[in-house]
Amino acid sequence: KQFSDLMPLYNVSPSLVDIVIQCGYTEPTPVQRQTLPCMLEDRQILACAPTGSGKTAAFLLPILHTLGAPQGGPRVLILCPTRELAHQIYREALRLSASTELRCSVVRNLKESKVKEREATIRKSDIVISTPNRLCYLLNQDNVNITLDKVRWLIIDEADKLFEGSAEQASDFRQQLDQIMSCCGSKQRRVAMFSATHTPAVAKWTRHNLRGLINITV
Ligand code: AMP
Repeated sequence: KQFSDLMPLYNVSPSLVDIVIQCGYTEPTPVQRQTLPCMLEDRQILACAPTGSGKTAAFLLPILHTLGAPQGGPRVLILCPTRELAHQIYREALRLSASTELRCSVVRNLKESKVKEREATIRKSDIVISTPNRLCYLLNQDNVNITLDKVRWLIIDEADKLFEGSAEQASDFRQQLDQIMSCCGSKQRRVAMFSATHTPAVAKWTRHNLRGLINITV
Protein backbone atom coordinates (compact mmCIF):
# COMPACT_ATOMS: atom_id res chain seq x y z
CA LYS A 1 0.00 0.00 0.00
CA GLN A 2 1.09 3.53 -0.75
CA PHE A 3 0.92 6.38 1.79
CA SER A 4 -1.89 7.98 -0.19
CA ASP A 5 -4.00 4.80 0.23
CA LEU A 6 -3.00 4.11 3.80
CA MET A 7 -3.34 7.48 5.44
CA PRO A 8 -7.02 8.14 4.67
CA LEU A 9 -7.71 4.90 6.55
CA TYR A 10 -6.50 6.64 9.68
CA ASN A 11 -8.03 10.01 8.87
CA VAL A 12 -4.62 11.59 8.42
CA SER A 13 -4.99 15.14 7.15
CA PRO A 14 -4.51 15.66 3.41
CA SER A 15 -1.84 18.30 4.10
CA LEU A 16 0.25 15.79 6.01
CA VAL A 17 -0.14 13.30 3.16
CA ASP A 18 1.02 16.03 0.76
CA ILE A 19 4.12 16.73 2.83
CA VAL A 20 5.00 13.04 2.97
CA ILE A 21 4.69 12.84 -0.78
CA GLN A 22 6.72 16.02 -1.25
CA CYS A 23 9.45 14.42 0.86
CA GLY A 24 9.56 11.76 -1.82
CA TYR A 25 8.01 9.06 0.34
CA THR A 26 5.47 7.07 -1.60
CA GLU A 27 5.32 3.79 0.27
CA PRO A 28 5.65 3.41 4.02
CA THR A 29 8.66 1.37 5.09
CA PRO A 30 7.91 -1.79 7.13
CA VAL A 31 8.57 -0.08 10.46
CA GLN A 32 6.31 2.82 9.46
CA ARG A 33 3.56 0.44 8.37
CA GLN A 34 3.60 -1.30 11.75
CA THR A 35 4.18 1.69 14.00
CA LEU A 36 1.60 4.06 12.54
CA PRO A 37 -1.57 2.17 13.55
CA CYS A 38 -0.20 1.27 17.01
CA MET A 39 0.75 4.83 17.91
CA LEU A 40 -2.50 6.18 16.49
CA GLU A 41 -4.28 3.84 18.92
CA ASP A 42 -2.12 5.19 21.77
CA ARG A 43 -0.35 1.88 22.27
CA GLN A 44 3.13 1.86 23.75
CA ILE A 45 5.68 0.16 21.53
CA LEU A 46 9.18 -1.23 21.40
CA ALA A 47 10.22 -1.26 17.76
CA CYS A 48 13.34 -3.08 16.75
CA ALA A 49 14.39 -1.77 13.37
CA PRO A 50 17.78 -1.22 11.77
CA THR A 51 19.30 2.22 11.25
CA GLY A 52 18.08 3.74 8.02
CA SER A 53 14.74 1.91 8.05
CA GLY A 54 12.68 5.10 8.27
CA LYS A 55 12.04 5.03 12.01
CA THR A 56 12.20 8.82 12.43
CA ALA A 57 9.17 9.31 10.20
CA ALA A 58 7.62 6.22 11.82
CA PHE A 59 7.24 8.09 15.10
CA LEU A 60 6.90 11.61 13.70
CA LEU A 61 3.93 10.91 11.44
CA PRO A 62 1.52 9.60 14.09
CA ILE A 63 2.68 12.37 16.43
CA LEU A 64 2.05 15.09 13.86
CA HIS A 65 -1.32 13.58 13.16
CA THR A 66 -2.43 13.58 16.80
CA LEU A 67 -1.02 16.89 18.04
CA GLY A 68 -3.49 19.12 16.24
CA ALA A 69 -3.09 22.84 16.84
CA PRO A 70 -0.02 24.23 18.58
CA GLN A 71 -0.42 24.82 22.32
CA GLY A 72 3.07 25.43 23.63
CA GLY A 73 4.34 23.42 26.55
CA PRO A 74 5.95 20.25 25.19
CA ARG A 75 3.53 17.45 24.40
CA VAL A 76 6.15 15.29 22.74
CA LEU A 77 9.63 14.65 24.02
CA ILE A 78 12.16 12.81 21.89
CA LEU A 79 15.31 11.49 23.57
CA CYS A 80 18.30 10.18 21.67
CA PRO A 81 21.94 9.43 22.51
CA THR A 82 23.84 12.10 20.52
CA ARG A 83 23.61 15.74 19.46
CA GLU A 84 24.08 14.74 15.84
CA LEU A 85 21.10 12.41 15.94
CA ALA A 86 19.05 15.07 17.76
CA HIS A 87 19.72 17.48 14.89
CA GLN A 88 18.91 14.85 12.29
CA ILE A 89 15.55 14.18 13.98
CA TYR A 90 14.96 17.92 14.27
CA ARG A 91 15.51 18.41 10.53
CA GLU A 92 13.08 15.60 9.71
CA ALA A 93 10.56 17.05 12.19
CA LEU A 94 10.80 20.48 10.52
CA ARG A 95 10.32 18.93 7.10
CA LEU A 96 7.31 16.83 8.09
CA SER A 97 5.66 19.56 10.17
CA ALA A 98 5.96 22.18 7.43
CA SER A 99 2.21 22.20 6.79
CA THR A 100 1.41 22.75 10.48
CA GLU A 101 1.92 25.56 12.94
CA LEU A 102 3.53 23.20 15.43
CA ARG A 103 6.82 24.27 16.94
CA CYS A 104 9.77 21.93 17.26
CA SER A 105 12.99 22.63 19.07
CA VAL A 106 16.24 20.91 19.82
CA VAL A 107 18.02 21.46 23.13
CA ARG A 108 21.50 22.72 22.38
CA ASN A 109 24.13 25.21 23.37
CA LEU A 110 23.92 25.02 27.12
CA LYS A 111 26.30 27.77 28.05
CA GLU A 112 25.26 29.41 31.29
CA SER A 113 24.24 32.55 29.41
CA LYS A 114 21.90 30.62 27.11
CA VAL A 115 19.99 28.72 29.75
CA LYS A 116 17.09 31.19 30.03
CA GLU A 117 16.83 31.36 26.25
CA ARG A 118 16.56 27.57 26.07
CA GLU A 119 13.95 27.57 28.79
CA ALA A 120 11.83 30.07 26.84
CA THR A 121 12.16 28.06 23.60
CA ILE A 122 11.17 24.81 25.27
CA ARG A 123 8.18 26.40 26.96
CA LYS A 124 6.88 27.50 23.55
CA SER A 125 7.53 24.18 21.80
CA ASP A 126 5.11 21.38 21.06
CA ILE A 127 7.89 18.90 20.23
CA VAL A 128 11.24 18.91 22.02
CA ILE A 129 14.25 16.84 20.98
CA SER A 130 17.20 16.36 23.29
CA THR A 131 19.83 14.08 24.65
CA PRO A 132 18.95 12.98 28.20
CA ASN A 133 22.11 14.71 29.51
CA ARG A 134 21.19 18.10 28.18
CA LEU A 135 17.58 17.93 29.21
CA CYS A 136 18.46 16.87 32.76
CA TYR A 137 21.10 19.57 32.99
CA LEU A 138 18.37 22.11 32.26
CA LEU A 139 15.82 20.49 34.56
CA ASN A 140 18.35 20.63 37.39
CA GLN A 141 19.13 24.35 37.09
CA ASP A 142 17.74 26.29 40.03
CA ASN A 143 16.70 29.27 37.95
CA VAL A 144 14.96 27.24 35.24
CA ASN A 145 11.35 26.19 35.31
CA ILE A 146 10.43 23.72 32.62
CA THR A 147 7.27 21.71 33.02
CA LEU A 148 6.86 18.45 31.17
CA ASP A 149 3.47 17.58 32.60
CA LYS A 150 1.75 17.93 29.25
CA VAL A 151 3.98 15.32 27.60
CA ARG A 152 1.80 12.72 25.91
CA TRP A 153 4.48 10.89 24.01
CA LEU A 154 7.98 10.16 25.20
CA ILE A 155 10.00 8.78 22.31
CA ILE A 156 13.29 7.05 23.05
CA ASP A 157 15.36 6.62 19.91
CA GLU A 158 18.42 4.33 19.71
CA ALA A 159 17.42 2.91 23.09
CA ASP A 160 20.06 0.17 22.77
CA LYS A 161 22.81 2.81 22.71
CA LEU A 162 21.31 4.68 25.66
CA PHE A 163 20.90 1.57 27.80
CA GLU A 164 24.08 -0.18 26.79
CA GLY A 165 26.82 2.44 27.15
CA SER A 166 29.56 1.82 29.69
CA ALA A 167 28.16 0.70 33.06
CA GLU A 168 28.47 4.25 34.33
CA GLN A 169 26.78 5.84 31.32
CA ALA A 170 23.97 3.29 31.40
CA SER A 171 23.32 3.91 35.07
CA ASP A 172 23.40 7.68 34.52
CA PHE A 173 20.90 7.24 31.72
CA ARG A 174 18.55 5.20 33.88
CA GLN A 175 18.58 7.88 36.55
CA GLN A 176 18.00 10.57 33.95
CA LEU A 177 15.16 8.61 32.43
CA ASP A 178 13.57 8.16 35.87
CA GLN A 179 13.78 11.90 36.45
CA ILE A 180 12.33 12.72 33.02
CA MET A 181 9.54 10.15 33.36
CA SER A 182 8.60 11.52 36.76
CA CYS A 183 8.35 15.03 35.28
CA CYS A 184 5.98 13.84 32.52
CA GLY A 185 2.26 13.55 33.15
CA SER A 186 2.07 9.91 34.21
CA LYS A 187 -1.58 9.27 33.37
CA GLN A 188 -1.56 10.28 29.74
CA ARG A 189 2.11 9.69 28.98
CA ARG A 190 2.93 6.97 26.47
CA VAL A 191 6.37 5.66 25.56
CA ALA A 192 7.56 4.55 22.14
CA MET A 193 11.04 3.05 22.01
CA PHE A 194 13.14 2.39 18.97
CA SER A 195 16.20 0.22 18.97
CA ALA A 196 18.43 -1.15 16.23
CA THR A 197 19.11 -4.37 18.16
CA HIS A 198 17.36 -6.55 20.71
CA THR A 199 19.09 -6.02 24.03
CA PRO A 200 18.31 -7.56 27.42
CA ALA A 201 18.61 -4.18 29.19
CA VAL A 202 15.97 -2.57 26.98
CA ALA A 203 13.68 -5.61 27.21
CA LYS A 204 13.96 -5.65 31.00
CA TRP A 205 13.26 -1.94 31.37
CA THR A 206 10.23 -2.05 29.08
CA ARG A 207 8.86 -5.13 30.86
CA HIS A 208 9.02 -3.35 34.20
CA ASN A 209 7.87 0.07 33.07
CA LEU A 210 5.53 -0.15 30.10
CA ARG A 211 2.10 -1.69 30.37
CA GLY A 212 0.39 -3.21 27.36
CA LEU A 213 3.58 -2.96 25.31
CA ILE A 214 3.50 -4.00 21.66
CA ASN A 215 6.74 -5.41 20.28
CA ILE A 216 7.46 -4.65 16.67
CA THR A 217 10.35 -6.26 14.83
CA VAL A 218 11.23 -5.61 11.23
P1 AMP B 1 15.78 6.96 9.33
O1 AMP B 1 15.80 5.48 9.56
O2 AMP B 1 14.64 7.61 10.02
O3 AMP B 1 17.10 7.60 9.66
O4 AMP B 1 15.51 7.23 7.77
C1 AMP B 1 16.44 6.86 6.78
C2 AMP B 1 16.21 7.62 5.48
O5 AMP B 1 15.04 7.13 4.82
C3 AMP B 1 16.01 9.11 5.65
O6 AMP B 1 16.81 9.75 4.68
C4 AMP B 1 14.54 9.34 5.35
O7 AMP B 1 14.35 10.60 4.77
C5 AMP B 1 14.22 8.21 4.39
N1 AMP B 1 12.82 7.73 4.46
C6 AMP B 1 12.04 7.62 5.56
N2 AMP B 1 10.83 7.12 5.26
C7 AMP B 1 10.82 6.89 3.94
C8 AMP B 1 9.83 6.36 3.01
N3 AMP B 1 8.64 5.96 3.42
N4 AMP B 1 10.17 6.27 1.71
C9 AMP B 1 11.41 6.67 1.30
N5 AMP B 1 12.37 7.17 2.10
C10 AMP B 1 12.10 7.28 3.41
